Amino acid sequence: MDDLRDKYEVVIGLEVHAQLKTKSKIFAPDGTEFGKEPNSETSPITLGMPGVLPVLNKEAVNMGILTGLALNCEIPERCKFDRKQYFYPDLPKGYQISQYDEPICVNGYLDIKGKRIGITRAHLEEDAGKLVHAGADGIAGSSYSLVDLNRAGTPLLEIVSEPDMRSSEEARNYMEELRNIVRYIGVCDGNLEEGSMRCDANISIMPKGSKTFGTRAEIKNVNSFSALQRAIEYEIDRQIEIVEEGGEVVQETRLWDDNARETKSMRGKEDAHDYRYFPEPDLMPLKISREWVEEIKNKMPELPQQKRERYMSLGLSEYDASVIVEQMGLALFFDEVLKSGASPKIAVNFIMGEIAAYLKEEKLEITDTKLTPENLTELISLIEKNTISNNIGKQIIIDMMKDGTKASKIVEERGLSQISDTGAIKEIAQKVVEAHPNEVSAYKNGKVQLLGFFVGQVMKETKGRANPKSVNEILKEILG
Ligand code: ADP
Ligand code: MG
Repeated sequence: MDDLRDKYEVVIGLEVHAQLKTKSKIFAPDGTEFGKEPNSETSPITLGMPGVLPVLNKEAVNMGILTGLALNCEIPERCKFDRKQYFYPDLPKGYQISQYDEPICVNGYLDIKGKRIGITRAHLEEDAGKLVHAGADGIAGSSYSLVDLNRAGTPLLEIVSEPDMRSSEEARNYMEELRNIVRYIGVCDGNLEEGSMRCDANISIMPKGSKTFGTRAEIKNVNSFSALQRAIEYEIDRQIEIVEEGGEVVQETRLWDDNARETKSMRGKEDAHDYRYFPEPDLMPLKISREWVEEIKNKMPELPQQKRERYMSLGLSEYDASVIVEQMGLALFFDEVLKSGASPKIAVNFIMGEIAAYLKEEKLEITDTKLTPENLTELISLIEKNTISNNIGKQIIIDMMKDGTKASKIVEERGLSQISDTGAIKEIAQKVVEAHPNEVSAYKNGKVQLLGFFVGQVMKETKGRANPKSVNEILKEILG
């Protein structure tokens, strides 16, 4: 397959739905909170009763504009809403209110790892309800499906990319950055597993060097970044096989099955005219003044790319900067620690080291622990002042997360402060040397790397409290 891959170029465009974190729905006053009793957030508007009228939620528009600006989009002075007609049991009105030819955001882009990915448009629309199918949780053993309309009418922003990506890796990088952005600007949880962010991947292949794109298949149902990459890889191979056998790829929607690791045809792909789009007569076209856009621009928080650059300017490697930005909770915590004056390098080593490992192990967020930014800063200052060694710091950080105690208190209670008193270290070093005559003669016969062994023994005797620099100097002196 790898040889065949070299013959083809892959073309990928993503359509990403981000669920906007408004309190109420996009055209109705019902709440949007997840996990409520089924069908408890269903006003007559959500249910599509005759005679009801939609009222646009301003906060959804604000979030749409903010996202558009973060994606370098233009925000046209006018946008409008349209009805997209289709029948499905989770869509009570028989149409979805969306935006067709005049979306809220157009002509954007994202620069990702040196490559520009165009963003065609982003438009506001309402989500559908949810079907709970026969035999599923809640109706186990049943032969029927139920509909829960709590999600119906939740605001979505659909972000459509240009077909600019050329590999599954580029698609994943784009998707990850998009998720970072919507999370940092606070418009979406960006949780793929729970479906607050959903991705349809459009994939086609063409002979290398060709200028004409092949027919695309649209893949739905990818619930994680790794699944997105797997689904694209599978789909590329499937399409190459078809073309190599003289067949043609058909335009269709396919579903990714992450357990079976394959895509399956779901339905032929509708064209836009199948939906009989027409302007939503119950909503006025929306005028967005330049002042409104300016006001939102002024509230733009620091974006992930800016954050990475700032961290790198503090001396972090590109890799470390990226890893910490990927974990928003840790990055925001890191920012607080920096504000209280800690050394960035020591702070990042603690956060990405012991702290991240502990959180992963315990499946916690940093805010679930009792560690405050101030307490981490205090710990770091003890290390910088040589009151404790870095190793002791690593030993006590977990306790600080568990019970919120200040480092200075733990150090005092457990007598952990660093031994810089050279007399005390000398005494211990002397004992260690006397206890290991064989190693001493080996050292004297030129096996100088044994110095590390002696240092280790002294550190062990002092439970890691001796100042490593003094230990080295003193041992060299004793060993001659
Ligand atoms: P629809 O809404 O019907 O899915 P769009 O024209 O909005 O269609 O395009 C959807 C996505 O498909 C866009 O992200 C676009 O970049 C991508 N796309 C279009 N043509 C191709 C192609 N030949 N190969 C891969 N992706 C494509
Ligand atoms: Mg589509």
